[in-house]
Amino acid sequence: MIQSEFSPDVVVIGAGIIGAASAWRLAESGLRVMVVERESPASGSTGKSVAGVRHQFTTETNILLARESIAEYAAMPVSGYRPEGYLMLVPAEQWDNHRAGVALQHQHGVPTQLLTPQEAQNHVPFLPGGLGGCSFCRTDGLVDAHSLTHEYVRRAREAGARFLLNTAVTGIQRQEDGWGVATRGSSGAVGTVTAPLLLNAAGAWSGELGRLAGLEIPVWPARRMVFATAPLDPPRHLPMIFDLHSGVYMRSEGQRLIFGRADPADTGWREGMNWDWLEPTLELALERFPWLESACLDRRASWWGYYEMTPDQEPIVGRMPGAEGWINACGFSGHGVMQAAAIARIVAQVAADTPPFIDIAPYSSDRFAQGLYTSRDIQL
Ligand SMILES: Cc1cc2nc3c(=O)[nH]c(=O)nc-3n(C[C@H](O)[C@H](O)[C@H](O)COP(=O)(O)OP(=O)(O)OC[C@H]3O[C@@H](n4cnc5c(N)ncnc54)[C@H](O)[C@@H]3O)c2cc1C
Repeated sequence: MIQSEFSPDVVVIGAGIIGAASAWRLAESGLRVMVVERESPASGSTGKSVAGVRHQFTTETNILLARESIAEYAAMPVSGYRPEGYLMLVPAEQWDNHRAGVALQHQHGVPTQLLTPQEAQNHVPFLPGGLGGCSFCRTDGLVDAHSLTHEYVRRAREAGARFLLNTAVTGIQRQEDGWGVATRGSSGAVGTVTAPLLLNAAGAWSGELGRLAGLEIPVWPARRMVFATAPLDPPRHLPMIFDLHSGVYMRSEGQRLIFGRADPADTGWREGMNWDWLEPTLELALERFPWLESACLDRRASWWGYYEMTPDQEPIVGRMPGAEGWINACGFSGHGVMQAAAIARIVAQVAADTPPFIDIAPYSSDRFAQGLYTSRDIQL
């Protein structure tokens, strides 16, 4: 049994972008931080994401989390932030709500433009059936989620945080003065880490992590397929495009295009590509973008990963009621990359018992116990 000599104030479980960024902010605030990661940084959902960052949300909390995170990424050359824009194609029945969201974005300084479907054709040709309008935000775009995570790990280490990589958390015990975390390294070595504070940043595995401690945290995995075309000749340079009518998204990835769509039935720990999902997705994509027919699919360049879902597809952030010292930052439901920087600052504020710089009350885990939740924002 290995007993760590380092006595942390907080044990962070998971070194995806949320755990890594939080470790940095916690260490920077003066806490001794130990991160436990089963594999390596960004090996979970973070490394599988399509790395889009957008301000185009319809709730204030999400707009602010994205705005502050994107501002941080824009100031970090290593983030690979490219403001290539997000183009939203919005069905008629969602148009009023979408426009209200854009008005709220404007109140927070986000330069989203409303476009007619004809104007939006300047970004990409498409058939406009069923659309009420479009919107484009030029400061939405892409980042390099791997590089960002590794940069946060580097900053965290520089600020004194320690990382136990290739080490899984296998058990969690409530103790008088905090949490006792049992670990098993890839070599089989077992150990324990004890700390007054525990941050659950285990992504899609956060529900399972809670169960190790006897806590009910409603986060579960949902598999997402990302289909890639072969390099196009000539290449077609596209921003991130979301067809909110069909749920299909598409963007350029170098000379290729990547595209996908959520399968709401594909939940649980299902591994590998579900190629049966390609045909129905492609059918819908071709209805909107008939020119896509000339592209060839490259199966080897396609990939899959887990979204980390919650009942309302909004995250769970903050202290867990009834579990002294337990902090959640999980369940980002496909938005974790674009919200991580702000969430990390909030985690450090929560740990210090100071008011978060963005009100995260809507993301309290209480809302599920009380049944006080509805899906309110654009779900992609
Ligand atoms: C196909 C796809 C596309 C996406 N596109 C976007 C996008 O465009 N923009 C966006 O913002 N988000 C996107 N996402 C979502 C985004 O990837 C996640 O929201 C984000 O990565 C969550 O980060 P995380 O750190 O919480 O989780 P993760 O990156 O999953 O990190 C959790 C870590 O916890 C570790 N862990 C789990 N259990 C244990 C244990 N018992 N012991 C030790 N370690 C453990 C895991 O190994 C993992 O490394 C996408 C996701 C997918 C799958």
